[in-house]
Amino acid sequence: MRTHLNTSTTVRNLGILAHVDAGKTTVTERILYATGTTHKRGEVHDGTTVTDYDPQERDRGITIFAAAVSCTWDGHHVNLIDTPGHVDFSDEVERSLRVLDGAVAVFDAVAGVEPQSESVWRQADRHGVPRLVFVNKMDRVGADLDRAVASVQERLHVAALVVQLPIGQEDGFRGAVDLVQMRALVWGDEPDSFAAGPVPDALYEEARGRRRMLEERVAELHPAALEEYCATSELSAATLTAALRDLTRSGEGVVVLCGSAYRNRGVEPLLDAVVSYLPSPVDMPPVRGTRGAAVEERAADPAAPFAALAFKVNATATGRMTCLRVYSGTMRKGDTVLDAGTGRTERIGRILRVQADRHAEVDEAVAGDIVAVVGLKGTRAGSTLCSPQAPLVLEPPKSAAPVVSVA
Ligand code: GDP
Repeated sequence: MRTHLNTSTTVRNLGILAHVDAGKTTVTERILYATGTTHKRGEVHDGTTVTDYDPQERDRGITIFAAAVSCTWDGHHVNLIDTPGHVDFSDEVERSLRVLDGAVAVFDAVAGVEPQSESVWRQADRHGVPRLVFVNKMDRVGADLDRAVASVQERLHVAALVVQLPIGQEDGFRGAVDLVQMRALVWGDEPDSFAAGPVPDALYEEARGRRRMLEERVAELHPAALEEYCATSELSAATLTAALRDLTRSGEGVVVLCGSAYRNRGVEPLLDAVVSYLPSPVDMPPVRGTRGAAVEERAADPAAPFAALAFKVNATATGRMTCLRVYSGTMRKGDTVLDAGTGRTERIGRILRVQADRHAEVDEAVAGDIVAVVGLKGTRAGSTLCSPQAPLVLEPPKSAAPVVSVA
């Protein structure tokens, strides 16, 4: 039997969450650059970044409309779902959070966790979205990783598991020691110049101490790691990686990395962490929905009955484009599906993967995929599309409450 299940383990449906101005657009743009999705460096201030392709967004310099972009990193298919950071657009944040399997929360290395980032963090908590933290703007005057980490622990009440030690400070920030692999990652001035090497002698003792702290913290939280730690008084890189993955996925801890997106520093290890620690669609619990009065669960299995959630509808030059997250089953071009919201059937036209400003047409989309479909007539954001033989309404968002900033 042909199954896509193995393929789905290499999918990451990822969102970038941040307070306005923390650098979400810049991080997104640098991810697209690092993954070879774009070859031109866009800058936020000249309005050429790729995810901000709505003219209104370009004008305002903020990300208003969520866009889904596919890219590839280390054999993994990363669907980047851009979530708006503005409190006014919380419905859209809510909808995009529903379709994510993991997120990167971006904080400013000077400001740390700000009230608005707290609100988005809590929303992500309600949706059970596993997260990594990226402390951005390490090049700024006053940037302080330890202080930002303290604000993560105090304000977000989560165990911060810091896996890097910065090399250089503020304007001199040029890299990080990877505390899991105990190697130095250093960036040059050119966008692609990135080299891994031994930990510099001057930082060796401090890096050992930080690694020790990380091992102790992980052992406190993870029973299998504790066992190894008690037996050998240390944790191997393999055990540490496996435990960090478990703690991230269960939400018991959050892995913290740092960098300067603006200067193209820190994005490659961030992508490595996305692939290592965040879950794939098949690692997520089955999605729940209702079928009449009965509650049904559907696993991320391409052979199961089809069910997908429409999370964004855009009017584009190509036609009406509906962004869908497929939760179960397989959707093929030409299929007739049921819109559980309207009770009408719809025909699947062209299926597209959005790659920055280009679209790649595909014949089918399977459980775990995020794609855009052209030609759906009446489907709205929030509607379930499903097999007419196995109707299902996916559960409504966990919280419809508006997000109120406490600033
Ligand atoms: P967003 O509102 O979260 O999408 O943030 P942007 O990506 O638009 O960034 C906000 C501002 O911070 C812009 O002027 C960026 O150029 C700047 N910025 C982003 N990343 C960095 C960084 O790593 N260092 C510094 N110094 N500035 C940055």
